[in-house]
Amino acid sequence: MDENGYDVIVIGSGIGGLTAALELSGRGKKVLVLEQHYLLGGACTTYTRKGGYQFDAGVESISGLGDRGPVRHLLQNHNLDSRIVWLRNSYEYRHADKSFIIPDRWEAWGEQLMEQYPDHAADVQRFFTDCRLAFEETYQAFAPDRLTPYLPKTQEDFRQYPVRYAHLYPWLGRTWGQYLDAYLQSDEIKHQLSFLTTYVGDQGRDTPAQVMFALMGYFIDGGYRAQGGSGVLAEALVDKIREYGGEVKPRTDVKSIRVKLGKVIGVETVKGVLYRAPVVISNVDPRMTYEQLLDRSDVPDSVWGNVEALRPSMSLIVWTAALSRPFCSDRLTSVHGVKPHHLPLNDMIVEGYGYHSSAAKDPGLAPKDAGNVTINLRAKANAGKYAAMSPEQYAACKQELDEYCRGLLAAIDPVAAQHLVFSEVATPKSIHYYMRTYEGSIYSTVRDKQSGFPNYRTHIQGLYLTGAGVGYGPGIEAVVISGAETAELVYEALEEKHAVK
Ligand SMILES: Cc1cc2nc3c(=O)[nH]c(=O)nc-3n(C[C@H](O)[C@H](O)[C@H](O)COP(=O)(O)OP(=O)(O)OC[C@H]3O[C@@H](n4cnc5c(N)ncnc54)[C@H](O)[C@@H]3O)c2cc1C
Repeated sequence: MDENGYDVIVIGSGIGGLTAALELSGRGKKVLVLEQHYLLGGACTTYTRKGGYQFDAGVESISGLGDRGPVRHLLQNHNLDSRIVWLRNSYEYRHADKSFIIPDRWEAWGEQLMEQYPDHAADVQRFFTDCRLAFEETYQAFAPDRLTPYLPKTQEDFRQYPVRYAHLYPWLGRTWGQYLDAYLQSDEIKHQLSFLTTYVGDQGRDTPAQVMFALMGYFIDGGYRAQGGSGVLAEALVDKIREYGGEVKPRTDVKSIRVKLGKVIGVETVKGVLYRAPVVISNVDPRMTYEQLLDRSDVPDSVWGNVEALRPSMSLIVWTAALSRPFCSDRLTSVHGVKPHHLPLNDMIVEGYGYHSSAAKDPGLAPKDAGNVTINLRAKANAGKYAAMSPEQYAACKQELDEYCRGLLAAIDPVAAQHLVFSEVATPKSIHYYMRTYEGSIYSTVRDKQSGFPNYRTHIQGLYLTGAGVGYGPGIEAVVISGAETAELVYEALEEKHAVK
């Protein structure tokens, strides 16, 4: 193989891309990962600002670290388990003037709700019992060392499925709202049990029930932050890929995926360097992959229609601030039911927000005796709207958001607000710039349930997709599974080709 020739090229170093690269390089394939940013890890990176304040680009809490979790299996299989110290997160849910600190144990959460809503105790008991069983059944599909679920294949598997997965099966293809309605009558309890839906998009009650069973893992097996910031996870995967002989190049912007006679032959970078491989895995947002990296003539019209129908998932306004004293709480807090607030320049109505301080949980992320805080406001993925503004208009929008978030901080922690050192605002335009997602969505484009588009395999031989826009959607746990599933397909294809030769 020549110097620029590889078995597999991965475009993008998100956790989906890194998982695929790790799995394949661990099995002896010659792998190259190309990342446009100077930091590796995509949304799972940690950056440093003046004065030594550190912030996570996105990820604040990681699931899938229980004994049966795919993230745990990934780390164990590659001897990375002892490399990361995991700090368990705790959660707080606020609705109007009520505050609920969510207990660390699933059963304790149920007991708390039964005490708070005694008239609904029997409903709550039934929900907490059955939902836990649905969660356990979801993870039965992961053998002790596997990253990917075992899906039914044989006739016998299909026959057994409704019996083995008695609490999960009836809810496949149905929504979380339907599940809640079947068990509970109190809207207040339903809201509380749904406050994590934004972890997977903006579908609220319409989020698939199956996805929510897995998400309940945050309260069963726990949600964790890596000590030192989320970037520590990406660094661990990168170090291991390099140890296996793979190459990972930051600051390497891919301009195009090269295709010849319907087959992938490699990629070309913005600087004009050509890397060759019979397999390319794009970890880039699927719509961006098709629209920006492929030549229009390589995409059949039938596929193009699907591409143009792909819509972006939600976005966020991310407000980060450095404080000269610690923030008041180390909980991940979700605030709902506030009086709607109109931000006219941004054309946004704020009805809720989330906040957390990574340094309150992990003091090493701020200078001694100092702190940090992040406030997230849900936003439309509309990077194009901000991009079309003049610099003055855009600056005014950011100022409006900054003033609003400073006001929120003053209400949450008045002392911290008086110790604010500096603050920064990221809009969907910033997210588009750093993550290269379509319209600056935080969770890539949304896979179309009807058509199943996009999928790991594409219509171009040798071109695969991985990450939040395919497979199981967004979140570290989901993209680890997607990276591993893509790696399995690619490994099989490469071995078959080898056998044919
Ligand atoms: C603000 C925010 C908060 C989040 N919070 C959580 C959380 O608490 N818990 C959780 O589990 N998940 C969270 N998520 C979701 C989770 O981070 C993502 O779903 C997941 O990290 C996406 O991984 P990915 O593999 O799809 O790749 P991405 O992280 O999207 O990475 C794709 C990579 O491709 C690179 N790239 C794009 N184009 C090119 C090109 N042309 N050439 C080279 N490189 C390119 C990008 O720079 C990027 O690094 C959050 C996301 C965001 C944005």
